[in-house]
Amino acid sequence: MHKNISGWQQLTRPIWFSASLPLGLRLTILAGVLLSTFTSIILWNWQMEYSRLEQEKQAEALAYQIEQSIDDDLQVLWSMGNFYPLAENLNRQTFRQLATYTLARYSSLHTLAWVPRILERDRLSYTSGSSVAPLEIWEQNSAGDWIVAPQRSEYFPVTYRQSNHEKTLPIGWNIASDPIAKEAIETARNSTQLVVSQSLNIPGDRQGIFILVPVYAPGTFDSTSRTNSDLTFSNNSDFQGFILGFLRWEDVILQATQTINLTHLNLCIYAENTSNELRPIAFYHSQNQRVQSDNLDNCRAKNQQINQKITISDRRWWIFLQPTSEYQYIHSPWLIWSVLLTGLLWTSIPGTALLMSVHRSHQREQLVQELAIANFELSETNLEIARLNRISDLLQACLTVQEAYTVLPPLVQPLLPDLSGGVFVLDESKNLVELVTYWGEPLTSNKTFFPDQCIALRRGQIYCVHETNSGLLCQHLDSHHIPTEYICLPMVAHGEILGMFYVGSLKGNRLTERKQQLAEILARQIAMAFANLKMRESLKHQSICDPLTGLFNRRYMEEALNREIRRAEQNSYSVGIIMLDVDYFKRVNDTFGHEAGDLLLKDLGKFLQKSIRTSDIACRYGGEEFTLILPETSFDVLKHRAENLCQQVKSLEVEYQGQQITPITVSLGVALFPDNGFTALAILRSADAALYQAKHEGRDRVVMA
Ligand code: GH3
Ligand code: MG
Ligand code: MG
Repeated sequence: MHKNISGWQQLTRPIWFSASLPLGLRLTILAGVLLSTFTSIILWNWQMEYSRLEQEKQAEALAYQIEQSIDDDLQVLWSMGNFYPLAENLNRQTFRQLATYTLARYSSLHTLAWVPRILERDRLSYTSGSSVAPLEIWEQNSAGDWIVAPQRSEYFPVTYRQSNHEKTLPIGWNIASDPIAKEAIETARNSTQLVVSQSLNIPGDRQGIFILVPVYAPGTFDSTSRTNSDLTFSNNSDFQGFILGFLRWEDVILQATQTINLTHLNLCIYAENTSNELRPIAFYHSQNQRVQSDNLDNCRAKNQQINQKITISDRRWWIFLQPTSEYQYIHSPWLIWSVLLTGLLWTSIPGTALLMSVHRSHQREQLVQELAIANFELSETNLEIARLNRISDLLQACLTVQEAYTVLPPLVQPLLPDLSGGVFVLDESKNLVELVTYWGEPLTSNKTFFPDQCIALRRGQIYCVHETNSGLLCQHLDSHHIPTEYICLPMVAHGEILGMFYVGSLKGNRLTERKQQLAEILARQIAMAFANLKMRESLKHQSICDPLTGLFNRRYMEEALNREIRRAEQNSYSVGIIMLDVDYFKRVNDTFGHEAGDLLLKDLGKFLQKSIRTSDIACRYGGEEFTLILPETSFDVLKHRAENLCQQVKSLEVEYQGQQITPITVSLGVALFPDNGFTALAILRSADAALYQAKHEGRDRVVMA
């Protein structure tokens, strides 16, 4: 309802949609979020840096360990090289004994072999036919089996360990087919110096390196001055051959990881070639602690950032550490999240508190607004009630319905502004509906119509139309001013339809629900008031009128006479009284019966009423005696009129059951105020005395008091 009240439209829009968070609250939340995010970022960086340093440390230690491991093996090879020439016979048997001893003690050495120096004749005979000089390799692998390589063989026989059965397979390995092996042996032979090969694969997926340590005749050089890389020998004639050691990366890595714990860190080893290009050669899987040298896709992981160089002789390798997802999970910066969450939590507490207070204040505001609207509506309702009460009071104050008709328009109009309407009543015959009063312009209904032209009267129910473009319409609507909306309300009181209360409007949306309710109340109120007024009129009529003749009764006559005398006193005029009594009326009763007497009295009453002016008052004084009050009259006029009556009454014809009960005569006693008395009583006595005199003098005459 309040949406129709323009003043409230601003206030009644939904608060939560329009209201924004207060600046203080927004700043608090923003500051909290920024602070915790900032702290989290710093902590994150710290954590990352710490983790990186950890990994770097591990990579460094690992590289050192690998270097140490290889270096240890190198030292062993040097020792062998130092010791071997001291033997009496440098033959396979001697080497075998030495190799057996060494392999048993140093497990990181996988294979040992003796590569004798090239005799000039061999070089001559083979350089032409083969790209590789003939080798006589005395070899033993870590399993302890000797494989005697065929003289001048180009093959490098290997022994495989299968289950627990050691088996030597006569499968040769063509050194010439492996450029790395070939190059290493050639370099060693040409330089007669320590050579560390690039990483190479020997059959059986054994990724590793050759270390070729030169062996010289005893006393050739001072063994204490040897270093890994810086060895030069001037006298090549003392050169005996090489001790070839094969180190598997797998062994080297597994040995190193026994010391350095690589939990959740994978390891990838890259070999660097002369043009500084890196090639993955082995991958250590920290979860199953295996080293694989094939299928090295894992090495291409993007997150391997921590690397470390390994240098053996003039060769370089790189190790890259790869943190696994578990590592990242374990080192995940939960602290940062906890800081962020705690920060947000702490922000959310005052934020929530502020939000709640804002919410409450909005609720309060809303309540205040609702209260204001309710107050406004209440005052409107109060005003309406006051107006309705006033209407009710004034209607009660009305003495006649006519009076009520005039009171209504100015009272109803303010209650139903922008609407016109009227009150229609059914006539006595109930065959016609007539407008008795209306308000507002223009009235959108005809002023007179038949009851069945109104749907409300036809049904005895309210009939309301909000859109006259469609639907069933009453036929009493004014065709020149068809309303857009209208309502017809039957006015019912004490179960009787008295008429119809009509309200209509040329414009739409005027006849709101509230207005309809008001119209209903008004219709009821007016109907009740009309019924009361009608009843009062009838009661009054009954109390002052004689039921038989319809003339005023004696009580009214006395009141009226007093009133007329007061008026006559004020205005200085005379009031005449004529007392009239039917002569020998008893005889009529006796002759024709009481009913005939009544009929005569009734007709005589009509005759008297007809014979007087409208300002005169005719009363039945009692029995067959009548009194006429004639204000503003003179003695002569009064006398003249009394005599006229006396004569004319004789021509009155009354027939009862086919029998003439007339003619009759009357006796009249006439008195005049103020001539015959100054009070009503005095005047009446004078008239009565005159009447008595008329009777006494023979009846059928007028006696002036
Ligand atoms: P007088 O000329 O002296 O006036 O003779 P009267 O017969 O008219 O007078 P009286 O006072 O003797 O009789 C009046 C009669 O009128 C007596 C009464 O029965 C009769 N009467 C009075 N009121 C009524 C009435 O309302 N109806 C009828 N039918 N008779 C009435
Ligand atoms: Mg009498
Ligand atoms: Mg009489």
